[in-house]
Amino acid sequence: DLRSPLARDQGVRVFLLDRAGQPIHRPADAATHVLPTDLMQALAAPVVQAWTDGKLYLTAAVPVSALNPATDLGWTVVTRQPLSQALADAREAQRAAVVAGLLTAVMVALLAWGAAGRLMRPLRRIVAAARELRAGRLETRMPVIDSPREMHELSQALTEMTASLINHERELETANRELERRVAERTAELTQATESLRAANAKLEHLARRDTLTGLPNRRSLTETLHAEVRRHRRSGQALTLILADVDHFKKVNDTHGHAAGDAVLRAVARTLVGGCRITDLVGRFGGEEFLLLMPETDLAGARVACEKLRERVQALDGPVRVTMSFGVVSPAQYFSTMEEALNAADEALYRAKAEGRNRVCVYDGQPPQAAPSSGFLPLEDA
Ligand code: GH3
Ligand code: MG
Ligand code: MG
Repeated sequence: DLRSPLARDQGVRVFLLDRAGQPIHRPADAATHVLPTDLMQALAAPVVQAWTDGKLYLTAAVPVSALNPATDLGWTVVTRQPLSQALADAREAQRAAVVAGLLTAVMVALLAWGAAGRLMRPLRRIVAAARELRAGRLETRMPVIDSPREMHELSQALTEMTASLINHERELETANRELERRVAERTAELTQATESLRAANAKLEHLARRDTLTGLPNRRSLTETLHAEVRRHRRSGQALTLILADVDHFKKVNDTHGHAAGDAVLRAVARTLVGGCRITDLVGRFGGEEFLLLMPETDLAGARVACEKLRERVQALDGPVRVTMSFGVVSPAQYFSTMEEALNAADEALYRAKAEGRNRVCVYDGQPPQAAPSSGFLPLEDA
């Protein structure tokens, strides 16, 4: 069998050795070969050995067994095949396996690429939608992905989460708007309340400083103005004239014509006094039927003339009730050290006008102090 043409083609060569290991037969194309010395190794199992031509051979040795020891020749059959030819099938199989492996790897890679693509495309759509939402375009819809199942669940979960977030955002916006509206409302209310309060305060301030019957400055307002005027005239040295004017026998007017008629007379007298004074003069109701007049930059002579004119106008007042007035004049008034002293001086002059028969102008004839060290009257409480 070993010497068949097929075996020959495959490089199989057969050697026959005698008991001493000397070749009895060798192939023709290996006539010169010396057998390897450690050939006996090949008895156990085929081995790869280097022969003396330097090439590797798959080598096998088999003793030729005899039925009877007496006829045993002790021969050994040695075969060898060049390693390349011996392993040719195995190499072929190996190559085939490598090619198949490579093909499989390429196919698997292609399949993986396709699968990754299938996963990545929907993920990219989800990412794009998420970016739109982040940029504030809340109308953006999360893409709904049907497969694979995990993607479907992910897209559904994201859709629900987005809807919930957008809902919260809208609720927050609504709440904010409502809050802003309420703040604006409250601010408007507060502004209005502040305005009303300011107006009420102004009205109160006005009322606190005005006499309700005549509309003239009241005693409190007059007192403040008097302090300011005294200070101013002390600095300028110009005369400040102070006058107390009182309606004569006014009690009789009330008694005869009634309180309402008395009020009407007081209003008419007030109008007459204001109308007969300069714009820079101050006319106020000091109390009852008594008026206080302040004439800045007016000396005694000028004040006397002004008071005479006023007296005549009151006397000439037309109406069902005719009245007259008496005037007590102090000038200059700014050098009294207290307001009370100045008013007392005016009152003294007025008293004299009453005593001398009423409907007249009397001047305080005591000497007002010529200069006082302080810059104004002492406050009324201290006076
Ligand atoms: P004389 O000439 O001495 O000043 O006498 P008289 O009557 O004017 O003075 P008297 O002080 O005795 O009376 C003042 C009166 O003025 C008493 C009071 O009822 C009245 N009177 C004070 N205030 C008002 C007011 O606002 N309206 C009215 N109708 N009468 C008032
Ligand atoms: Mg009077
Ligand atoms: Mg009086």
